Amino acid sequence: MAPVEILIIGCGIAGPTLATFLCLIDDMPAAQRPRITIVERASEHVTHARGQNIDVRGVGVAVLRRLGIEGLVRRSTTGEAGVRLVDERNRVWAASAADRTGLSQTPTADIEILRGRLSEICWRNSLRASAEVEREREQGGGGTGRGIEYIFGDYVEELDQGDGDKVHVRLAKSGLRRSFDLVVGADGLHSRTRKLVWGAEGEGDRVKRLGMYAGFFSIPREGETDDAWRRWFHTPGRRSVMLRPDGTGRRTTVLMSVVKDDDSADDENQKLAELAARGHAGVAVQKALLEEHFRDAGWECERILRGMGATDDFYFDMVAQVKMDRWSKGRVVLLGDAGYCASPISGLGTTLAFTAAYNLAGCLQEYIKGTTPDPSSALVAYEAKMRPVVEEAQRLAPGQAYLMHPETAWGIRMSHLFASFVLYIKSISTFLGKLFPFGPQMADEVPLEEYGFKVMPGWELEDKSLKQ
Ligand SMILES: Cc1cc2nc3c(=O)[nH]c(=O)nc-3n(C[C@H](O)[C@H](O)[C@H](O)COP(=O)(O)OP(=O)(O)OC[C@H]3O[C@@H](n4cnc5c(N)ncnc54)[C@H](O)[C@@H]3O)c2cc1C
Repeated sequence: MAPVEILIIGCGIAGPTLATFLCLIDDMPAAQRPRITIVERASEHVTHARGQNIDVRGVGVAVLRRLGIEGLVRRSTTGEAGVRLVDERNRVWAASAADRTGLSQTPTADIEILRGRLSEICWRNSLRASAEVEREREQGGGGTGRGIEYIFGDYVEELDQGDGDKVHVRLAKSGLRRSFDLVVGADGLHSRTRKLVWGAEGEGDRVKRLGMYAGFFSIPREGETDDAWRRWFHTPGRRSVMLRPDGTGRRTTVLMSVVKDDDSADDENQKLAELAARGHAGVAVQKALLEEHFRDAGWECERILRGMGATDDFYFDMVAQVKMDRWSKGRVVLLGDAGYCASPISGLGTTLAFTAAYNLAGCLQEYIKGTTPDPSSALVAYEAKMRPVVEEAQRLAPGQAYLMHPETAWGIRMSHLFASFVLYIKSISTFLGKLFPFGPQMADEVPLEEYGFKVMPGWELEDKSLKQ
């Protein structure tokens, strides 16, 4: 039987993680190993330079361990000490320190890392796994099995699975035409794979906007106030700014959020959503829009807006969740944010991406080994394993984005007082978190199935070429 040909679209977090686990399938001849291609729209440099603080929790950390990168990831964290809610004079109204004991999930997770840094580690780790497959083949396995092929700076323009046995794709830039046994869309919240296969017209029902729009970027670190703590400043009109450490001590990362009262198709919401959908092509307008919203906001916004104007790592997006009845159609399956984005306010998007990549690779083993004739049963099993986890991760309090962003100065004061009260009885909230594992707590409750993957040796080398 010819090796299974798999195309993974997207080299963010979920894509390279899946590729790595597919290389770690044990107990199969080198000639039978899947032929994996990853196509990533951004250039190699850009995809590893953008995105700010993300977290990995509970079951996600267990996956990092199996990938052999837990140590490296821990050495690359931002070192955030916790979160402080501050007012315009930098007075702290409530604080929540990071929990390092593993007893509870706090707003600052055990692992806080820059998204670009983590995606670079995942990609480079997949290169390690790929090299191991190549070595195995050269050492006598022979055949057509090979490591991972990477195509950066291109994307799938046409996708056709008319005959049912293969998925035929055409790449936009190179015009390359290729056929695959399975295509995995790991291309994020605005997934083009999802639109190509499920139809662009249904996107309004699948992508649930949460009324929140955010700019992520970094500015030079300044003064005494930029320290290891995350500072979260709210200003009337449902706006907030977070300043956070980047782990190098040279930059401060920024999350600027605007929340709109009504997430219907009103003009302002529509304009913000369209701007987000323009991605990197819309940077100038996206920056101008944030400038307009925060010009009068006070606090440190003047220097933040100055820094935003000069930064080249700016990323703007809407905060949304993706909800679908099925994550696969024929031989195409969605993975990570593309199929079930939980949104940054869930605190679980990256943990989901790791867990799902691990489970999808596990479910695909029998198909890849040739025991089952097509991937359909594997895709059903993947969905059955991930559906309850995703539903739990996507559970947010009604109107959570609005509750986190009061409209008036009085509302902000009340929310600060409420937060300080809750944190004061933190011992009780930790206990309650264990009893009712909602929100980020659930990351500790998800079991990781054993699929018998080869063990990836730990990445001990302090790799200087990682962007720090
Ligand atoms: C540039 C960027 C910055 C981000 N910054 C943050 C952040 O600061 N905070 C936060 O909480 N979350 C951020 N996220 C989202 C976060 O990475 C994900 O929620 C989470 O890690 C799940 O990962 P994923 O692999 O499913 O998706 P993603 O990490 O979004 O990865 C998707 C990948 O697919 C690529 N891609 C997109 N379209 C195509 C296409 N048509 N063809 C080929 N490749 C494509 C993207 O360039 C990206 O590399 C960011 C995502 C991106 C892409």
